[in-house]
Amino acid sequence: MAEMPFVDTDIEDEFVMHASSEINIKKKRKRTTEREIEEGSERKKKKKKQYQPNYFISLPITNPKITGSIQAVQDAIRQKDQRLSKAMVHSGSLHVTMFVMHLSNEEEISIAVGALSDSKDFVEDLLKGKTVDLSFQGIDHFKNEVGFVKLAENDHATILTEIAETMKKIFQEKGILAGEERAFKPHLTFMKLSKSTQLRKQIIQQYEKQERGSG
Ligand code: AMP
Repeated sequence: MAEMPFVDTDIEDEFVMHASSEINIKKKRKRTTEREIEEGSERKKKKKKQYQPNYFISLPITNPKITGSIQAVQDAIRQKDQRLSKAMVHSGSLHVTMFVMHLSNEEEISIAVGALSDSKDFVEDLLKGKTVDLSFQGIDHFKNEVGFVKLAENDHATILTEIAETMKKIFQEKGILAGEERAFKPHLTFMKLSKSTQLRKQIIQQYEKQERGSG
């Protein structure tokens, strides 16, 4: 698939900004894509269903400077391609995911809530009275399907990574299936094609057609 339109959008200057927030536990929205339905054997599907992340720990991003800049980027993208409106993350849902997990029943949910509350002392120890001041700079994407703003690499981002790793360990020690194989890559997602199965299909078809035409 070729580059998504937002890759060309020049917003570098808009993305030097700071955030401070409280850690949150949220349920992931369940969205089964057509590819998921079509691909794989029954066993694969069952395994996927069993372990697919359905909850996540996140830092809500509510600083109006940040949410306003994100909206400016989203508007610029919409102007290039109105169809992408459906892919935009709403301002009230902007967050930085610390880690994901799979909780299968009420008991696990309550263990996770306990782990979140236990994490408080560990996080305070790591912070030693300091605040974490998150700065965002530049845009990137995951597989041309998820558009996000990058977290600037500095001491604050290092502390955030330590917090995420420590919290994940606390959850795992309590028997929660937390985390994924991939390393923690803090980011702020502002659009994702998975928000609309129909749009995702349309865009992929369009770019595949373009690639065939240019190759
Ligand atoms: P989030 O910003 O955590 O809500 O994630 C938005 C989307 O990006 C989800 O579909 C994630 O699966 C995907 N995602 C998050 N982190 C990564 C990563 N490090 N590599 C590839 N995809 C990711």
